[in-house]
Amino acid sequence: MDRYAVIGNPIAHSKSPVIHRAFAQQTGQHLSYEAILGPEEGFADTVRAFAASSGRGMNVTVPFKLDAFALADHLSPRAQAAGAVNTLSFRLDGIHGDNTDGVGLIRDLEVNLHCPLAGKRVLLLGAGGAARGVMQPLLAAQPAQVTIANRTAARAQALAERFASGTDAGKVEGGSFDRLAGQAFDVIINATSASLANDVPPLPAGVYASGALAYDMMYAATPTAFLQAATASGAAHTADGLGMLVEQAAESFLIWRGVRPASAPVLTQLRAMLAEA
Ligand code: NDP
Repeated sequence: MDRYAVIGNPIAHSKSPVIHRAFAQQTGQHLSYEAILGPEEGFADTVRAFAASSGRGMNVTVPFKLDAFALADHLSPRAQAAGAVNTLSFRLDGIHGDNTDGVGLIRDLEVNLHCPLAGKRVLLLGAGGAARGVMQPLLAAQPAQVTIANRTAARAQALAERFASGTDAGKVEGGSFDRLAGQAFDVIINATSASLANDVPPLPAGVYASGALAYDMMYAATPTAFLQAATASGAAHTADGLGMLVEQAAESFLIWRGVRPASAPVLTQLRAMLAEA
């Protein structure tokens, strides 16, 4: 039987086994999917050992996405743009690395949440791995503007500069939260880890345009601190990152098995599991 797994540290919390087993059942694919606790040292050896024992692919999560990037023999353009790998495929010509986080976010926004990004003013909060990982698919969706704001302003500026070339001048810019005063956005995406500490990035009043969507990449059984603050500040719509999680998994499944599973029933299943936990 073809084996798949998610590797991370910690890993006990991972929802990937539930998601991929549901996809396999739904599409009639015969495979196994497990969770592997990656060692602090020896990531590459663990991956190679899995590949050598009928492993066909792996999802990679915190803190190993950069290790997976370094390990891959072949990188997809979106993995190169993201600078990180969350999907490994073991093939005859070596290890292929891809990144499905960004496309997962875009599918959740555009398909599940019916929020087409073309022509929209988008504000991306944070300049870490998650923010960088979504930049290329975000720009490919043709928003009018992408503004990156980060606690450490220089990181936001550097991220904007990295992706500004090849796009319309002025379309991508980065800086501090203070610089947002007087601006309004249609879609505001929280890619900071502030919600993990129940913290909220300091956004000025008026940042949510009429009808705006607030999206938190983090997810929880109840609205995150960021989404609660967004509602209080006038966001018309809110969504957390559970849909992104399911959609990035669906894209990995497609890469591995050549069939795209329906994500909606699995998202419903996961939402119910979160509520019960
Ligand atoms: P990183 O550690 O790479 O980056 C963290 C970012 O958050 C930095 O920009 C940092 O700013 C900022 N930050 C941290 N604390 C605060 C705070 N208190 N106030 C304001 N900004 C803060 O993390 P990642 O980019 O890997 O992950 C970010 C989030 O995205 C996590 O919550 C993660 O769970 C989520 N995520 C969700 C996914 C999904 O499928 N739903 C997929 C991937 C990530 P500074 O540069 O100043 O330190």
